[in-house]
Amino acid sequence: MADCLGIGFLADKKRLNEVLDQARTFALAKGICMQSKQQDGTMLTQHFPFTLFPSVVPRTCFQEAVDCMLDFNTLIHKVAHDHDFLENSFKNVLEADEFTQGLWKIYTQVREEGYAQPLSLGLFRNDFMMDVQDPDHVQIKQVEINTIAAGAGSIASLLVHLHRLTLDTTGKRYDKSEVPDNDAPLGTAWGLLKAWDLYGRKQAVILFVVRETESNIFDQRHLEFTVLSLNSEVRVLRRTYWDIYNGASLTEDKRLLIDGDEVAVVYLRAGYAPHDFPTLKEWDARLKLERSLAIKCPSIQYHLAGLKKIQQELTLPGSVEQFIQDPAAVRRIRATFVKQYSLDLGPEGDKGMEFGKADPDLYVLKPQREGGGHNLYGNDIREFLETHQNSKERDAYILMERIFPKAHKNYLVSPGRPFALSDVTSELGIFGVYIGSATEEKMNMQCGHMLRTKLLGTDEGGLCSGHACLDSPFLVNDEL
Ligand code: ADP
Ligand code: MG
Repeated sequence: MADCLGIGFLADKKRLNEVLDQARTFALAKGICMQSKQQDGTMLTQHFPFTLFPSVVPRTCFQEAVDCMLDFNTLIHKVAHDHDFLENSFKNVLEADEFTQGLWKIYTQVREEGYAQPLSLGLFRNDFMMDVQDPDHVQIKQVEINTIAAGAGSIASLLVHLHRLTLDTTGKRYDKSEVPDNDAPLGTAWGLLKAWDLYGRKQAVILFVVRETESNIFDQRHLEFTVLSLNSEVRVLRRTYWDIYNGASLTEDKRLLIDGDEVAVVYLRAGYAPHDFPTLKEWDARLKLERSLAIKCPSIQYHLAGLKKIQQELTLPGSVEQFIQDPAAVRRIRATFVKQYSLDLGPEGDKGMEFGKADPDLYVLKPQREGGGHNLYGNDIREFLETHQNSKERDAYILMERIFPKAHKNYLVSPGRPFALSDVTSELGIFGVYIGSATEEKMNMQCGHMLRTKLLGTDEGGLCSGHACLDSPFLVNDEL
């Protein structure tokens, strides 16, 4: 990639180290940072792992990923409001996966009780890789869409400026539109503020539900500061599920009060992993939020609609068409799909089992989990499938065709990793905002992006799980 950008002199180690030093300081100065807990319990602030230069992304791929965001927003919203589709999709998963069961229980209770709040707020991130299996044509293929705690947009927006600086310092001439501005935090903040406005009570607060210890705190705080900079009347509170269990209550008309403040919008940056719910008390807190009149991001049905099982079901013939009538929108969505298979006990699931066992390197095995580090690859897939041939546990997984992105070159600047020009691959995330009820759309927009880059040969791609480095796209007209 560095060659591709025409940065020839980086063979000069001294110059390279100057650029590195400047970039690291810039990252710290601008808050492109994360925290980690040390053995003695103190928190250490470091810069986020990042690439020294932006990575080349074909403009057409970037545009296609942007162009289908409104379609995906609508699709997820409609899926979330189709009870039969959700129930059918999850019926076998529910018998095999306790965490999905916990979410489903909340969904069922709130649905039976009647939703206090008809509106949901979606702050989604749609993730893609640029597949090069067809050597003549690079294609964006969806890895997954995230409907809960879709992060890194704020940090990614800051990184654009770091990358323009490293290009400037190395004497690379470019047009600003080639390293495009990134309005992810602005769009996300607009979504939160629009929901706050729709709630209709000026004194009510926006509640960020967070973990006690959070590595991605700067990303969250930057979003909070963006909200406050757009509207100084609003207050943002941060609370854990434990705080909510102890300090939150519902009034008779289901207003959510936390330490005396009424909550207009609940924004979940925690609650997507089983360890967010160590006891029934945290589950109780999640239920309390969901039963309330506050607008939830995501509502429980949005959360469910983002699980891997739904994404597999949506690839089946007729599924997308059930929700989206516009044939062009269906085409845009479907063009990003690779094949996915159910592994449910029975003849249909057996087909997926056979594919996975025969060619494990062509697939990824995914459970109903978020946040990185849960998927299986290669021989681990074969082993898992052979061990679970007759076990109900296989119903909790889906099998997805593997996407093969082209390798390029960049420098990864990551604490604890050697600094060298490396072979890497990238993954592009596009952010979207949606607000609507079962019958009405209030907001549907696309805002900003995020690129992350990992060493070639690394299977997983999580930022916070330490597998990937934050990056920015350098848009080029030619294919890779
Ligand atoms: P999570 O919810 O844990 O983020 P993902 O579906 O995003 O789960 O998978 C985690 C990572 O695994 C992705 O960021 C990507 O790097 C890799 N991955 C997932 N699906 C595929 C796929 N079909 N082909 C290649 N890599 C994949
Ligand atoms: Mg992911």
